[in-house]
Amino acid sequence: MSEIAEEMRRRPDRGEVATYIPELARADRQAFGLAVIDADGNLAAAGDSETPFSVQSITKVFTLTLALGKIGDRLWQRVGREPSGNPFNSIVQLELEKGVPRNPFINAGAIAVTDAILSGHEPREALGEILRFLQFLAEDSTITIDERVAASEKRTGFRNVALANFMKSYGVLDNPVDYTLGVYFHHCAVAMSCRQLAMAGRFLAHSGRNPSTGLLVISPERARRINAIMLTCGHYDGSGDFAYRVGLPGKSGVGGGILAIAPGTASIAVWSPGLDAAGNSHLGRLALERLTKRMGWSIFGE
Ligand code: GLU
Repeated sequence: MSEIAEEMRRRPDRGEVATYIPELARADRQAFGLAVIDADGNLAAAGDSETPFSVQSITKVFTLTLALGKIGDRLWQRVGREPSGNPFNSIVQLELEKGVPRNPFINAGAIAVTDAILSGHEPREALGEILRFLQFLAEDSTITIDERVAASEKRTGFRNVALANFMKSYGVLDNPVDYTLGVYFHHCAVAMSCRQLAMAGRFLAHSGRNPSTGLLVISPERARRINAIMLTCGHYDGSGDFAYRVGLPGKSGVGGGILAIAPGTASIAVWSPGLDAAGNSHLGRLALERLTKRMGWSIFGE
């Protein structure tokens, strides 16, 4: 891992940081962090693995988990499970599919999932539930929301406002659009380090179980299915390429983070803020490619 971190630090091709959320443009393009936690709880880390960054879409894995816990398979009436083949913030398929987003990991799908969590709660309570879930999984009560990032996206998130209104017009959202978006923008703005993120992902690597307590967070069946959706939809229209190169279920965010799961083996988090054309961390993906190759972790074989 040190060798991988060293190579990533030196590489000139770093991708471009996201600027459409102005606060994210301040990220340090030179930063690189990597953390791996195995089934026995051993942590291996390299680079800036303790620096909190904006996890953005990676929270979509955890909101999906919460929404399935709350309403079960009824969730699939308002969001699909197919790769989109379109950019993360695309609106085109929504019209073809009557306001039902293709999957829970594109923006429209995650907004629909957030709406399901919000129902029956005040926005503040729903957000508290999401944040407490992350703190519980990571066993770390210091995880917080970066209010500046949330405010920055609220000021400029016109595309998400359009997606939400479009879904609302088809009756896919139950709550007032500004409530749902308020919760969505805030959970995207959670800041976590690679170590905290790898901790939070452990239940997906171990059939729904927290390996340190032995307690089930979700059923093995649900964990397996969430991993399947991460594999097929976790990197927007770059999901096929991520499976081809890395070969693990993963979820990226425009803050430059990626959570990847080696089933039965490890939870892995990587961070490098520069993105490729599909909005996925350029060096994050490359580092995971190096790691899975050396460890023989691809789910498709060595
Ligand atoms: N909050 C971001 C948005 O809605 C998340 C996008 C992402 O990380 O892919 O645009």
